[in-house]
Amino acid sequence: MAKVYLSLGTNLGDKPANLQAAVARLQAKIGNVVSLSSFYETQPWGFVSQHSFLNAAVCVETALSPVEVLQATQAIERELGRTHKSVDGVYADRLIDLDLLLYDDYVLQTDELTVPHPLMTERAFVMDPLCEIAADVVHPVFHRTLAELKGTEGT
Ligand code: ADP
Ligand code: MG
Repeated sequence: MAKVYLSLGTNLGDKPANLQAAVARLQAKIGNVVSLSSFYETQPWGFVSQHSFLNAAVCVETALSPVEVLQATQAIERELGRTHKSVDGVYADRLIDLDLLLYDDYVLQTDELTVPHPLMTERAFVMDPLCEIAADVVHPVFHRTLAELKGTEGT
């Protein structure tokens, strides 16, 4: 079993319900959800919107490969009504965004998947919930714990 950390975000509709629905589907499709952070209200990052975000982090134990996890999270995004992807780094309001942050201590880069998520340590809205459930986990590229990396975000 691999330990996978995922970030969840939503800024439309019933946001707590969107996060709960995503967690239930992660449990059904990916594996046992062993920890779930609190929900954090944050401001949009990288684009202007009147809708604030609700963000969370989860740890899931899985028998799936990294690409299978990505495919499952993308299927969940579609099931929960997300209709379009971010294009060329242009972000938009979304019902649910699921990002794969860490997969054990794997480091991999393909056209569709980069692990660890390359922007995770630059985003407080990722690191704050993640550190609640994974403060002592060592980042496999930076070789520092997430607690040590927290607070070094660009924003
Ligand atoms: P964002 O999360 O930056 O708003 P999207 O959710 O639309 O953007 O994802 C854009 C693309 O990022 C996806 O098509 C996916 O293939 C790719 N991607 C690369 N690495 C990851 C990762 N670690 N987690 C999630 N998506 C990733
Ligand atoms: Mg995403």
